[in-house]
Amino acid sequence: MNADGRVVLVGAGPGDPELLTLKAVRMLREADVVLHDELVASEILALLRPETRRIAVGKRGGCQSTPQAFIEQLMVREARAGNSVVRLKGGDPFVFGRGGEEVAALEAAGIVVEVVNGITSGLAAPAAIGIPVTHRALAHGVALVTGHSADDGSSEPDWQALVNSRLTLVIYMGMATAEATRASLLAAGMDRAMPVAVIANATRANQASIVATLDSFVQVADAACIRSPAIIVVGRAVALASRVARDDLACSVG
Ligand code: SAH
Repeated sequence: MNADGRVVLVGAGPGDPELLTLKAVRMLREADVVLHDELVASEILALLRPETRRIAVGKRGGCQSTPQAFIEQLMVREARAGNSVVRLKGGDPFVFGRGGEEVAALEAAGIVVEVVNGITSGLAAPAAIGIPVTHRALAHGVALVTGHSADDGSSEPDWQALVNSRLTLVIYMGMATAEATRASLLAAGMDRAMPVAVIANATRANQASIVATLDSFVQVADAACIRSPAIIVVGRAVALASRVARDDLACSVG
């Protein structure tokens, strides 16, 4: 066993390679082996040295393609073999990225772990269409939540408390449950006219977005073929979204 092996959880950011941190780029250049999510852009993988081994793991289209325990065992094995291992994750490793579980598993195995932040899609996506998630007059804070529940054992957010908080709501993994989320927010007393944006593939060449209201956003997003991966943003600050959309609609209706 070589004592120099280590694992670095690196955030790949939302997609645009220019949004990687300098530290992320250095870690990628130093890696012997990279375990990456399927959604990590090819331009980012192109930064690796030719001799670096690449292993695609994790999720595609919302289904778990590689069991979490297998990923953790693989990282332990590679680190114990003396390799510099990078676990490259979309966005930030500690925001809905299971980074906490991976750190715990690696530490339990006695492996040295480091974390390098990435720009989380929940902040990049609103910014990509001009929405400030906090604003002195419109939003005193922001809550990052997941709309996804059920099968992964996580529970639904307390929508009533979130509506009462008046924070900007940034919803990850929310497309499959968008209609239920809309109903929950209405039931919690949120105004039907509250602005809602949905941004898919933020900062990538195929970015697509809509700005609508709580009442209409599910239909409007559907009509524009906005699909996962997408971020839903709810709140008064959404009204500041740029009027000039810099991205194209994902499909033409008809
Ligand atoms: N750790 C990641 C989140 C992983 S959960 C991060 O910090 O960004 C996966 C969810 O992230 C997707 O369902 C989607 O809601 C969101 N997502 C990831 N990349 C995205 C992008 N480029 N545009 C819009 N949403 C994105």
